[in-house]
Amino acid sequence: MLAFHSDAHSLALPPQHPFPQSKYRLLREHFEAQPGRLRMQAAPAASAAELALVHRPDYIDAVMQGSLSAVAQREIGFPWSAQMALRSCHSVGASIAAARAALQEGVAANMAGGTHHAFAERGSGYCVFNDVAVAAKLMQAEWGRQHCKPLSVLVIDLDVHQGNGTAAIFRDDPSVFTFSMHGAKNFPARKEVSDLDVELPDGCGDAEYMAALEAALERIWTLQGQTPPDLVFYLAGADPHEGDRLGRLKLTTAGMLARDRLVLDALRTRRIPVALSMAGGYGHDITTTLACQVNTLNAAAQSWWMWRELSPSSMPESRP
Ligand SMILES: [Zn+2]
Repeated sequence: MLAFHSDAHSLALPPQHPFPQSKYRLLREHFEAQPGRLRMQAAPAASAAELALVHRPDYIDAVMQGSLSAVAQREIGFPWSAQMALRSCHSVGASIAAARAALQEGVAANMAGGTHHAFAERGSGYCVFNDVAVAAKLMQAEWGRQHCKPLSVLVIDLDVHQGNGTAAIFRDDPSVFTFSMHGAKNFPARKEVSDLDVELPDGCGDAEYMAALEAALERIWTLQGQTPPDLVFYLAGADPHEGDRLGRLKLTTAGMLARDRLVLDALRTRRIPVALSMAGGYGHDITTTLACQVNTLNAAAQSWWMWRELSPSSMPESRP
């Protein structure tokens, strides 16, 4: 399975900053030590024109040229630096590359991304640009050159925080269905309206979570009827885990893996391509976050392999 990384550009964060940026490098290094599991590639940077499919030009300029106000930087949670701008462009580029690969091969991943709190005109909550929204719009534009029917997209956002930016961006767009399952009492305090929101109580464990997810997916398949989505973006946030500092839920590591498998199996059996992104994860111990994300990527690689077995066309050789 192709997996795109974008950790070459570091944020200039002050000491004690809560954002665990080392997890991206650690995730890449984990898979580099296991050659053959993933086909990893450095992500290209998204261009300003690609970002402008979603984001307002004045906001893009402010990020690229370093003229974000102090208030805007505080809302994002990162101080501006040239590296921060570059990193954000590569993270969007990773989701674009993963989406293109998913349309070809069934399953592909961004080893970062899932920056779902970014709105068209501003960033928020460690999110500068909305990678999934940009990739969805770009895939729709590229698809439209070859197909009469527009590309329909489903966003499955299982990060523990609501995908408020994504919901707002696609609020009036029937070609993108937004589904977010998140902690009711967690950030953001003011939620947006997705096409389907499922709110979970603090302390929610594996059984309750899986029952809610199964019911939500059934509802989506029913709502979509005879027209299933052409492409899914899956935000596989690691922050519902019981060891997360911010999550407030109580999923075990096994429960997190069961969640990923439920989503991946449902998509593969329906022959719906999926581009994954890692989204959040803020473990008290970073190794628990890393373990969840490793499991997610291994499950995705396994699904890629099974997808390939079902249609052994011209895909490259690679063990899951
Ligand atoms: Zn989150």
